[in-house]
Amino acid sequence: MKLKSKLPDVGVTIFTKMTALANEYNAINLSQGFPDFETDPELTDLVYKYMKKGFNQYAPMQGVMLLRERIAEKALKLYKAPYDPCTEITVTSGATEALFAAIAAVVNKGDEVIVFEPAFDSYVPAILLSGGIPKYIKMKPPDYIIDWNEVKDAVSDKTRLMILNSPHNPTGSVLSKDDISSLREIIRETEIFIVSDEVYEHIIFDGITHESMAGYPDLASRSFVISSFGKTYHTTGWKVGYCLAPKTLSAEFQKVHQFLTFSTNTPVQHAYAEFLENEKAYLELGGFYQKKRDKFISLLKNSRFNPVPCRGTYFQMLDYSSISDEPDTHFAKRLTTEYGVASIPPSVFYHENDDHRALRFCFAKKNETLEKAAEKLCGI
Ligand code: PMP
Ligand code: GLN
Repeated sequence: MKLKSKLPDVGVTIFTKMTALANEYNAINLSQGFPDFETDPELTDLVYKYMKKGFNQYAPMQGVMLLRERIAEKALKLYKAPYDPCTEITVTSGATEALFAAIAAVVNKGDEVIVFEPAFDSYVPAILLSGGIPKYIKMKPPDYIIDWNEVKDAVSDKTRLMILNSPHNPTGSVLSKDDISSLREIIRETEIFIVSDEVYEHIIFDGITHESMAGYPDLASRSFVISSFGKTYHTTGWKVGYCLAPKTLSAEFQKVHQFLTFSTNTPVQHAYAEFLENEKAYLELGGFYQKKRDKFISLLKNSRFNPVPCRGTYFQMLDYSSISDEPDTHFAKRLTTEYGVASIPPSVFYHENDDHRALRFCFAKKNETLEKAAEKLCGI
């Protein structure tokens, strides 16, 4: 029998490929974004506590109530955003699930979706599976800013959704207040929804404030605001995220969520709910990662790599144009197999594989890992 692929142009993700290559060549893995240090033992103890207490069956479809309440408190405190934990918050199996559910909930066949490139790899497949049409807009290097005039020109009466991501993976750029003003201006008279991928909301540097869609009532009223506990608590393998959206949007979102996964890991949700009482753990995350960014950059001072400005996330892009003019996919492969450091080639985040001769390195690593990697990179 012949199966007609719904995603004929999609292969195994770059994260899977580069991590496999790093393992095969015993390279230092700065490719896929995950910490190589442990989460707070208090958090793992909490998961164990709730498992032993018997919280081992299905959680409510929308998420454990106490966790939703704590998420609501956080959104109110940080963004002055009043989300009702009963009807406007859904806990999901990672931000990846939330992104898929939000996109599937609003995109109908033939709808246009504005996607900014480079774009995290899960957005476009979700659009295509829903019958949508991605309309690509390139962010402008070296700072990877958005040209809002281009956005204005790209909006048509078929535009149904815009996907934003700040702090931005892979470039480390962030949306400013001016970006938000331009966005509000453009979107005001339209019927465009927003999926706002804010998984790095707490990983932002140099005193910059995260501009959440949740913080602007006119934007929040049309937005699915998505975050991930994996990034915030160094627990990417637990796969728990959430989506904030007004009641009517959350209701449509939950129609998809309940048949994608139904509900999310119960003891982990209880553990996060208790752990969220300690706001320091997320408020101090930006400072923690800023030190790592600065350390990584200073270790590379005498290398031939040039850092691209990174204002948030735990990724640093390094321009290698003074070393090689190879395409980034080739260079990333050679860096792994010959020099022992794995990275991500950002051209894979463009539908036309734009290549700026830069690679993305994850600095969510122990200092000794960063030192070992930098030593290798300085030798090139
Ligand atoms: N969006 C972005 C921009 C990401 O970097 C990630 C990281 N994996 C995700 C979504 C998915 O998050 P999760 O691991 O919680 O599914
Ligand atoms: N978000 C992570 C990254 O950008 C990886 C996600 C994944 O492996 N699917 O590296």
